[in-house]
Amino acid sequence: MPETPRAQLIHIDVDRRLGHEWDEWDGRPLPNRGDYDSAPTLFFGWSAATLAAALAIGALGLYLLGPRLALLHPLVPTVLWIGLAVAAALLWAWWAVLFLSYGIGRGLLPEGLAERGPFLRLMRLTSRMAGRFGRRDWVENAAVKVYNALALLRGRKVGTGELLLLIPRCLSKETLDGVLGVAGRYGVPVFVATRGQLARRVIRERRPRAVVAVACERDMVSGLHDVAGKVPVLGLTMTLPSGPCKDALLDLDKLESWVRAYVV
Ligand code: SF4
Repeated sequence: MPETPRAQLIHIDVDRRLGHEWDEWDGRPLPNRGDYDSAPTLFFGWSAATLAAALAIGALGLYLLGPRLALLHPLVPTVLWIGLAVAAALLWAWWAVLFLSYGIGRGLLPEGLAERGPFLRLMRLTSRMAGRFGRRDWVENAAVKVYNALALLRGRKVGTGELLLLIPRCLSKETLDGVLGVAGRYGVPVFVATRGQLARRVIRERRPRAVVAVACERDMVSGLHDVAGKVPVLGLTMTLPSGPCKDALLDLDKLESWVRAYVV
């Protein structure tokens, strides 16, 4: 008798509360034990494909709607084609400077045009595109690396009380102890942000001048989109050897080096 798909489902622990980013998880072990470590160039490849696809969709829409738009005024399609061409030229020039900035390790764009501006939207769009091909977590890992590299180029310094450490609820006990140890050594306040909404509230109330946030790739990309435009953030992603939302691990040395980079 053929095995039903139901029989293949693996039991999901009852003490695991899934974040909504993982709603569709089927209980199977994650690929590579939840370690999505990727080369930053992966993001540039996928983001270029995303930009090209978005522009192609715009061009197709204009091509199909052109005859109807011409009924409004014969010049409308021409003006819109010129607008699309200008937008495409600007977007590709921006993308190229971003790539160059990352490649040579120099902040060639102001923050508002780089890691705290349209980059966040491109990151979100690219993540959706990669999601359609089942590559979301790897591409998001690469995107967060590029984001961090651009943010670190600013060489920002803040006082210890002005830095905030935001951590998720899914860290393993040893990892949590390690994080609290780092925070204690540098006198940095730590908050457990269970949802993006809560993270935004903590930021609104505490008004930090910088944030080091810890989360899985999925939560990080949506969280950065929500808060990185308002306050400088460095985002540290985790590995999920026990599956999502439970016993997550992170690189404590990197966490400490980032806290030190901000406050020492
Ligand atoms: S950060 Fe942790 S708790 Fe939040 S969605 Fe990711 S794995 Fe789940």
